[in-house]
Amino acid sequence: MERENPATAESLDPIEGDTEADVEDALALADEVYPAWSERRLEERRQLLNDAAEVLRENAEEYAELMAREMGKPIAGGRSEVEKCAWVCEHYAEYAETYLADEVLQSAPEAKAFVSSEPLGPVLAVMPWNYPFWQVFRFAAPNLVAGNVGLLKHASNVPGCAQAIEEVFLEAGLPEGAFQSLLVGSDAIEDVVTDKRIRGVTLTGSESAGRAVAETAGKELKPSVLELGGSDPFVVLDDADVETAAEVGMQARTLNSGQSCIAAKRFIVHDAVYDEFVSAFVDEMAAQDIGDPTDDDTDIGPQAREDLMEDLHEQVTETLDAGATLETGGEPLDREGYFYPPTVVTDVPRDSTMATDEVFGPAAAVFRVESEDEAVELANDSTYGLGGSVWTEDLERGERVARRVESGCVFVNELTKSDPRIPFGGVKNSGYGRELSEHGMKEFLNEKTVWVQ
Ligand code: NAP
Repeated sequence: MERENPATAESLDPIEGDTEADVEDALALADEVYPAWSERRLEERRQLLNDAAEVLRENAEEYAELMAREMGKPIAGGRSEVEKCAWVCEHYAEYAETYLADEVLQSAPEAKAFVSSEPLGPVLAVMPWNYPFWQVFRFAAPNLVAGNVGLLKHASNVPGCAQAIEEVFLEAGLPEGAFQSLLVGSDAIEDVVTDKRIRGVTLTGSESAGRAVAETAGKELKPSVLELGGSDPFVVLDDADVETAAEVGMQARTLNSGQSCIAAKRFIVHDAVYDEFVSAFVDEMAAQDIGDPTDDDTDIGPQAREDLMEDLHEQVTETLDAGATLETGGEPLDREGYFYPPTVVTDVPRDSTMATDEVFGPAAAVFRVESEDEAVELANDSTYGLGGSVWTEDLERGERVARRVESGCVFVNELTKSDPRIPFGGVKNSGYGRELSEHGMKEFLNEKTVWVQ
């Protein structure tokens, strides 16, 4: 598999992909290992997850460097990503017993009725490159501790990360076959999802990839979870702490060099604080250090691939052509690699590209609204519904607005983030199902009813 360093546009050593026979061997091994893995005592699986957390921490620097090389993640962000993976392993090690406990059904007192959470078997995870460790661990930790086994089809530009993650679990002491990476392109996925040994599939990625995998899973009657794109609103109401909103808004847009599904993408600002917000926000965006991802001080690295940077620039250009105003940024940097500066665009027409499409890079679209109702209406005027953020000093008002936003989660006076303790997922074209917390853990379990008369 070809690899390229997006900071320098230099090729990295290719990694040999898997053949059809390799994929068959992996499926056979997953199927063979599953019964013993699922029957192991829960304490043992919990301990192995804690051991995986230790392996992650021991090798954090190496993994952060690998992410910087393969997809341009700034090194500090890579270190915190690895730490977050250790956290999700420890979270499920700690809570698995509680989450997996039988649920006694008090509503049927005439018998002993309860729900038992039981694993399903091998589950396939199709994952994106933007958080190449985190996306995988938030699937792997709950599923492995619950007794499923995992197969990973990672994005084609991060095969080194895919191999490293498989190694983490082996080094931690999980049996060979409990977690395997398939180094294949997306054209190999239909056959894997169709294979009778695969019992479910989760995909994090674009809408088109989600539709393709969901279609196959649907035909095969296999459960699926889809974590797709987003165009999250960041609503600044007239009573917001504008300075903090501008600072956090910048972080929410530029997180991971702007390549995050839950980045704030549409800034919806009340007229009363509009000028103050835009001025502070533009200053924050323009002050970001953009450069070498291996440098500790870099805030924003390159975009992960040349085609992605070109798509981003086209979205900005189309929006400006439709009548929007450029406040800062707006042109790729004139240097090696695929660097795009933090960009702010105001007066964005409602039907222009940056209003309707997902913008997967550090470019923000700002809208002016006259009221809370108009803010909510605009926030919901999207085919996506992943996250959202609302800024107000009145917490009751914040909660009221949060309830009206059509999305999988809303944060009041905070940026949207994923956290092992809370459910994560979307509605509308952002997908379905949940990851993380107890909710996410139950997606690929058989919630079996047992009735004892
Ligand atoms: P992508 O192109 O859809 O790729 C994601 C994964 O799907 C890759 O492993 C890719 O393999 C595979 N894939 C692509 N087309 C497929 C198909 N037809 N059948 C089966 N597999 C297929 O997305 P990306 O560019 O890597 O990631 C960016 C997108 O992911 C954005 O839309 C972003 O919002 C979304 N995302 C969502 C979340 C969330 O939690 N909701 C989190 C992160 C990212 P190849 O690399 O081999 O093509």
